[in-house]
Amino acid sequence: MTGAFAARHIGTDASAQRVMLDALGYDTVDSLVRRAVPASIQAPARETSDIPIAATEAEALAELRVLASQNRAARPMIGLGYYDTFTPSVIARNVLENPSWYTAYTPYQPEISQGRLEALINFQTMVTDLTGLATSGASMLDESTAVVEGMLVARRASKSASNVFLVDADALPQTKALLAHRAAAVGIELHHTSFGRSGPEAEPDAFGAFVQYPGATGRVWDPTEVVDALHAQGGLVVVAADLLALTLLRSPGSFGADIAVGTTQRFGVPLGFGGPHAGYLAVRAGLERQLPGRVVGVSQDAASRPAYRLALQTREQHIRREKATSNICTSQVLLAVMASMYAVYHGADGLRAIATEVAKKAEALATVLRGYGLTLSSDSFFDTLRVHVPGYARRVIERARERGFQLFWADEASIGVSVDETTTADDLAAVAWAFGLPEGEFLGAGEQGERTLPFADAEPLAGVPSSLVRADEYLTHPVFSAHRSETAMMRYLKQLSDRDYALDRGMIPLGSCTMKLNAATEMAAVSWPEFSRVHPFAPVSDVRGYLALIEQLEVWLAEVTGYDAVSLQPNAGSQGELAGLMAIRGYHRANGDADRTVCLIPSSAHGTNAASAVLAGMRVVVVACDDQGNVDLDDLRAKVAAHADELAALMITYPSTHGVYEHDVLEITQAVHDAGGQVYVDGANLNALLGYARFGDLGGDVSHLNLHKTFAIPHGGGGPGVGPVAAKAHLAPYLPSHPLSQRKDHPGGVFDGGPISAAPHGSAGILPISWAYVRMMGTEGLRDATAAAVLAANYIAFRLRDHYPVLYTGDGDLVAHECILDLRPLREATGVTVDDVAKRLIDYGFHAPTMSFPVAGTLMVEPTESEDLGEIERFIEAMIAIKAEADAVAAGEWPADDNPLVHAPHTAESVVAGEWKHPYSRETAVYPVPTLVRTKYWPPVRRIDQAYGDRNLVCACPPIEAFA
Ligand SMILES: *Cc1c(COP(=O)(O)O)cnc(C)c1O
Repeated sequence: MTGAFAARHIGTDASAQRVMLDALGYDTVDSLVRRAVPASIQAPARETSDIPIAATEAEALAELRVLASQNRAARPMIGLGYYDTFTPSVIARNVLENPSWYTAYTPYQPEISQGRLEALINFQTMVTDLTGLATSGASMLDESTAVVEGMLVARRASKSASNVFLVDADALPQTKALLAHRAAAVGIELHHTSFGRSGPEAEPDAFGAFVQYPGATGRVWDPTEVVDALHAQGGLVVVAADLLALTLLRSPGSFGADIAVGTTQRFGVPLGFGGPHAGYLAVRAGLERQLPGRVVGVSQDAASRPAYRLALQTREQHIRREKATSNICTSQVLLAVMASMYAVYHGADGLRAIATEVAKKAEALATVLRGYGLTLSSDSFFDTLRVHVPGYARRVIERARERGFQLFWADEASIGVSVDETTTADDLAAVAWAFGLPEGEFLGAGEQGERTLPFADAEPLAGVPSSLVRADEYLTHPVFSAHRSETAMMRYLKQLSDRDYALDRGMIPLGSCTMKLNAATEMAAVSWPEFSRVHPFAPVSDVRGYLALIEQLEVWLAEVTGYDAVSLQPNAGSQGELAGLMAIRGYHRANGDADRTVCLIPSSAHGTNAASAVLAGMRVVVVACDDQGNVDLDDLRAKVAAHADELAALMITYPSTHGVYEHDVLEITQAVHDAGGQVYVDGANLNALLGYARFGDLGGDVSHLNLHKTFAIPHGGGGPGVGPVAAKAHLAPYLPSHPLSQRKDHPGGVFDGGPISAAPHGSAGILPISWAYVRMMGTEGLRDATAAAVLAANYIAFRLRDHYPVLYTGDGDLVAHECILDLRPLREATGVTVDDVAKRLIDYGFHAPTMSFPVAGTLMVEPTESEDLGEIERFIEAMIAIKAEADAVAAGEWPADDNPLVHAPHTAESVVAGEWKHPYSRETAVYPVPTLVRTKYWPPVRRIDQAYGDRNLVCACPPIEAFA
């Protein structure tokens, strides 16, 4: 029996399912799925389960409240790239908690994504202005992985033949660990250097250097000499810079840095125990082609009006595979939107005021500490002090904790303290007390007689060389001054989200993306301060609630996948892939099999697979697929035989990216194991299997899952995500570890593989979503969801197959959770393309299905379990009507170059402005079915020119006049 929540989550009720089953000729949903999933892989019913009976929404919230109460609400002053911040309420309510923003998909269909594309171009402008560099991407996964990406950009672009990369000894500890792990896999040698301490030390043959600015100890120094030395030898310099500090300090671009990276967390994005936050990466002119991830640019639409779209997208990893610049797919759009809106709301003067106050607080604290006889490792700082406390660091940490503050224990003789915009005068006094300062003597009295440490008169940046103080302007574009009242901000956010199509408008049937419901109850805890204001390096006793939640989720995920150990650290599917492949690499090396570096990948695989394999130091060998979209067994055996001694792994997606349950999967995994290879099962399509089969039982050794697909985390318009990696016991020792993890005794065994994300638990702040999903669905609800998803996909395939051929089917002529519609015959017969159909769907009020992946000229439709029959029928009717329109073109009723398909989508302006000269009516253009009259979604722009050269794209806010 399906629980109360599951009945809300699953869109089709029993009567709707009856209609669909009758059409397909099955008695029950279960019998349909059991026919589709090969019997050889179906999991036997389990007698016991660690997943409790489904909770109601109220019960789940109550349990989350208990978990929340087990986190101690302390005030984090640990710093190291993470700071408490005030999320402006207008942004919290209208972005973070607004489904118009958080349920959108990645803006691959630009006509229905203009709102978030504008927010992202604001983000890029904010980053390029503050860093002083030419071009920024639209977000990275976090600061430390952005440093790795920066290192890889430097290696590609450097003229030096060296494989040495210099690393600032004053870099964040998590970044150093991540660099070490990732550099080893791709043959880069790291040299740690105390930059700026003893003159330039650039080694003669490094291809690049990494500088932390300000340093982890808070030190602000001038990297110009390092930059010049590197440039003299053909190397590039990557600078990780704090954006708030850059409102007062010279920009990396001004001292010649080639690449700037960092996090935008402290721009109003909650700590969330480590994430999600948007990282950034910006480059100087000449390096824009090397940018990893996505970039937004200004193109034009069919009416020659400016319109935003993703730039460089044809060169993204989906297409370039092993030649991609990066494996990043899902990034951090929602958080980038939040950070950019923080800058829009505060403007340049507001940000400068916040930073100035932060600098004053740090200076005020430094002054009293020095007055008390303590010394700092550097007197040139912005917000962070490294204080010498020979032999009594523990004592200071404990005293601070007594008052509710978390400081950073650097070693027995030094403590780090970071202030932020939330720090008060009272906080500073409490911290000073923790360092042993006597009450009264150093600390002034507040109005009510409380101890405070006033900072209004402190001199900001008192110890920073004047040459490092920023003189140039930033955020001068009008967008950063136009929305400064709350009314204006609220309306700007509404205006932008109204331009976009998200799940709050209708179905987003994107194959391979699983755009299911993100329930409000699942989202609730994300905003609770006990989860949102937690520092990733907080002591274990302050985060017991989080650790309990994480452990439960790991146990549940292990059970449903058939694996022994799970790490939630990867913060996207791509990072889960990398973590899994790194585990395979670690395993082979530990067995003395360092030569096993070949990774077999079927031609149909998701582009991230090949890109991740390269980053794990593997060589990609492509395995052919047969005309049914299955792995070609003969080719697989041939490739296994040819590479037997060097075979590291096979990466296989199950069910395949073709949306079918491959029959021979057990033979495939066996063949790889027989040759000594490991099997990586890409688990992004778990929504087709959950409750029916388990990757571990298919012969998988390791998999990643996408919690932002199968486990209800919203896509956020292109991130955040969580890509847990799950493995059999023999690989567990090589799963992600973290130098600052709170968990020394991991329940899944000791993970020792090196970090894959900046934070020990990745994007922990959104894990309550997936926890609540599993908790409220229970085992049966999860299985029922799978069944409903498979039923919906098969129903659509069945209803549309007379109009569009269904490219691949498996047993029983059935598909899995998605189906590929072949539009190539339509194109041959009528000239109508996949693009035309996708854009015409906008006129009908739909987001297009996945276009031309994995097969060019096709649409891949995945309705998920959350759509009800009414919405599914509406989609089917739209697709049938569009087919009829295409037939009318073929029949010569409409010319091939003037019909509602080639001109789609139609804006309101396009049907009212000027004389109507088309052979179809205005009604046909915008109201092709009558129900649209009252429910119409109006795209703000016409079809956007994808051919308009990337070289002409402007990747920062265009002048306002451009839109006049
Ligand atoms: C979505 C997807 C990925 C990548 O996941 P991200 O979170 O976007 O990095 C990998 N493989 C498959 C099959 C996918 O569908």
